[in-house]
Amino acid sequence: MKSGQECFFCPEKVSISTPKFPEKLGLGDRVIVDNFTLFPNLFVFSEFHAVGTLGEQHFTQLNEINGTTWKNAILGSIKYFKAVYNSNKQVKYPSFNFNFLPPSASSILHPHIQIIQDIKPTKIIEELLLKSEQYYKENGSNYWLDLINSEKSLKDRFISENDFMCWIATYSPFGKNELTGIVKLNKTDLTEFTEKEAELFGLEITKALSALFNGRNARSINMAVFLGPVGENHSNHYKINVKIVTRPILVPNYTADVGFMELLHNEPITETSPEDIAKSVKEFF
Ligand SMILES: [Zn+2]
Repeated sequence: MKSGQECFFCPEKVSISTPKFPEKLGLGDRVIVDNFTLFPNLFVFSEFHAVGTLGEQHFTQLNEINGTTWKNAILGSIKYFKAVYNSNKQVKYPSFNFNFLPPSASSILHPHIQIIQDIKPTKIIEELLLKSEQYYKENGSNYWLDLINSEKSLKDRFISENDFMCWIATYSPFGKNELTGIVKLNKTDLTEFTEKEAELFGLEITKALSALFNGRNARSINMAVFLGPVGENHSNHYKINVKIVTRPILVPNYTADVGFMELLHNEPITETSPEDIAKSVKEFF
């Protein structure tokens, strides 16, 4: 596919046509880490909402965004999260998100992440932090590490694990083909990640997206990384975790994946069991 002539995220335009950060953040006009360029979002969900381009190519398949590109995106996001936090220590709740291709609600084809930082956590992050702390108080152990151990011993939903991260097919998912990734590090503040840790995280994201591409025929996805607050370490009870769900591509017999159960009853319905999802992505990890 040709580079998008009208695309503001392509290299010819990204450095002239995109908005600039306010001077008070001390980030310069934009944050650039090699092939990743971060700038303020025009259509904000929150006061601090930035968009970052993943690579210079206008169209990339899901399995072609490599680990280095993700690493650059993570390092660039860390700069932003730190700068926002330093401008106001109350704005400490970041999140790192990715809509890929129009079925996921992405209006621009060029792959890009959206990062948000706010005084309040999102509803899900708030609940995850709260329930994780409750679990720790009741059981004296970390829910996320217990979840890894339990899924590992049950085997059926367990996908992959190394020293850095573990992946499982979600037992009770939000969406289709959902994977949960858990970062085992004793850090819940992304801005504390070293360059090596950003590299490992980037590689794991690439692996998971490729495995969904190959094993579940995924072309469009939503991903969210549920981060802990900046400047705090909640790793005794919490762990940074990732959710990825796939979205239906436009085919002749297209049906959307959100019906009355999902939209109005808040009850996600899935066609595939997590056990089958785990089985089909495992071999591609
Ligand atoms: Zn483009």
